Order: sequence, then structure tokens, then C-alpha cells
Amino acid sequence: MTSLRLPLLESVFCAVSLGAIVLDSERRIVLWNSWMVKHSGLSHEQVLGRDFFDVCPDLRGGRVDAAIQHALYNNFPSLLSQTLNKAPFALFVREERIQQAVEVTPIAVDAAPRHCLIQVSDVSIAVTREKLLREQAMVLRSQTFADGLTGIANRRHFDVAMEKEHRRAKRGGTPLSLLMIDIDHFKAYNDHYGHQKGDQCLIQVAAALAEMLKRPCDLMARYGGEEFAMILPETDVEQAMLMAEAIRARAQELAIPHERNTDASQLVTVSIGIATQRVDAPVEIDALIGAADRALYQAKRNGRNLIASMLPA
Ligand code: GH3
Ligand code: MG
Ligand code: MG
Repeated sequence: MTSLRLPLLESVFCAVSLGAIVLDSERRIVLWNSWMVKHSGLSHEQVLGRDFFDVCPDLRGGRVDAAIQHALYNNFPSLLSQTLNKAPFALFVREERIQQAVEVTPIAVDAAPRHCLIQVSDVSIAVTREKLLREQAMVLRSQTFADGLTGIANRRHFDVAMEKEHRRAKRGGTPLSLLMIDIDHFKAYNDHYGHQKGDQCLIQVAAALAEMLKRPCDLMARYGGEEFAMILPETDVEQAMLMAEAIRARAQELAIPHERNTDASQLVTVSIGIATQRVDAPVEIDALIGAADRALYQAKRNGRNLIASMLPA
């Protein structure tokens, strides 16, 4: 078998569907393939024999420059991934800049001073796909933390946030309050107005309550059924009381008719249980939730549309 003749080799080089540039030891361009011509808009005549950095001045002093120096003077190859250098060369497809992975390889030509080969591959499709996957992952993630009916945080989100805030409160020596909020006589509401109206009522109440959050660290979640839970970090009993009272009043202000709510003004109302973990008496999460539940039960027993507070034990 005979080896390929030089002109044939050059034609092959030109035909490949990635960018190929060869520089001599003085960093002059000795090869610029057709793919480069097509996407850079610079013809062979415009570049051959010229200093690489006169042709691509933007690359001077950057990572490609360093990679070329490594190849020519240290005999080291380099791979510049698209994550660090999105598109170093000014190469375009239909006016869109091509996303690139660049490889710079030293080439020994007999006894002649070292040359280097620069390969530029188009990774635009991979980059676009990666971006799409990242976006989809974010949407999925937000869906797994949102309640399907009301769109506010779900029980799983509550559990994760509670763990985090509980740890933070212990570490930082700050109080932590938990509010359990339950719609009064909601079974009767469903029985009277139908399940669909019941769903609408839940959506409306959830939205109104979620709007009342003041700080990014506060969380309002649908704890289950017609019960909501609010996590209030760095909040003592008095502040939690004020928040609970505002929530109770806000629910009533929505003025959603509830004929069967005989305890209150025949409007939809909520009862609220408060539990606060004091700085000097930290407890387990279960104890905090248990205390808020007992407080809620107390508010219901005392007549509904009320607030009660309980110390966790
Ligand atoms: P209380 O004042 O003591 O809280 O009485 P209640 O009737 O609200 O409490 P109970 O726990 O007896 O009933 C809760 C009702 O909430 C029962 C259930 O049908 C209803 N419910 C739970 N989840 C949903 C939901 O997603 N949509 C609708 N429409 N109703 C729901
Ligand atoms: Mg209820
Ligand atoms: Mg309930």
C-alpha cells in the first residue's frame, strides 16, 4: 500500500466537517480548511501565510493563545471544552455563533520546528440539548415541590424546608414558629356546594395565604386536604400570634359564602394552631408539629375562627 500523496491529504483535510487550522512554529497559518472558510467567511487567500493573531485578534491572550503556546513550545496538547469557552472563534451558521470545542495538538514534522493543529468542532446541538435538559429538570423539580391543585408548596416541600429551618434555628440560636391552619367545617362546605366548589375554595384560600408571606425564608405549604402549614423562622410567639391573627382575618375577608359554617359569620373561616420552639428549649420537629396540632384542636374546640398556641414539650 502506498501512502497518500500530499495534495490528496490536503483535500481530505479540507473536506472534513470540522474546523482544521495548522500553524507553523511562528504561528503563521499554513492550513485553513474549507469548513473554516465556510463558517468564518475568510478565504484561503485571506489567511494563508498570515500571523494567526492578525487573523483572529480576539483570541490573543486568551485560552486558545495559551493552548497554542503549550503545543508549540512545550509539546503539550490541550482540550478547551465548551463549558469554559463557549465560542472562542468567530464562526457562524445562519448568523448564529457556533458553540465550539477546541483541541490544540502539537505536530512534529521531521526535523522542522514544531507545528500545531487546531481542531474546532461544532457542539451547538449538544449545548442546546444540555440547556433544554437543564430547563426540563428545573421544571420537574419545581413540580415535585408544588401542590397539584393549589400550586403552593406541597407536603414534601414542607418536610424539606422544616428540616432545614429546624437545623438553622438550632445552630443559630433563633426561635422557630409553626402555624397549622385548617378550614372550618370544610366537609360541610363540600357537602353543600359540591367538591368542585370545594376545590375552588381551596385554591382561593391557598393563594391568599401564600400572598401574606413577607420574607423569602417563610414558607406556606398545603399540609394535606384542607390544612395548611406555615413555617416562620426567627419568629417568637408574639410575632407568630400577630401573623396568625392577620391570616385568620384575611381568610374571613375573602368573604367566601359558607352557609353551613354556623360557628362563624356563614363565611369560610380558618382556625390556627401555633407552636414556637424557644431558643432556650429546642425540641424535635415531631414535637413542634404535635404542639401545633394540639393548639389547632384547642382552637376548634373553643369555637373555630380562632387562634390557640401551645408550648412544645
Ligand atoms: P373542622 O372544622 O373540624 O376542621 O371540620 P372539617 O369538616 O373541616 O374537617 P374534616 O377533617 O372532617 O373534613 C375535611 C374535609 O376536607 C373532608 C374532605 O372531603 C375535604 N377535602 C380534603 N381535601 C380536599 C380537596 O382536595 N378538595 C375538596 N374539595 N375537598 C377536600
Ligand atoms: Mg377543617
Ligand atoms: Mg382538617
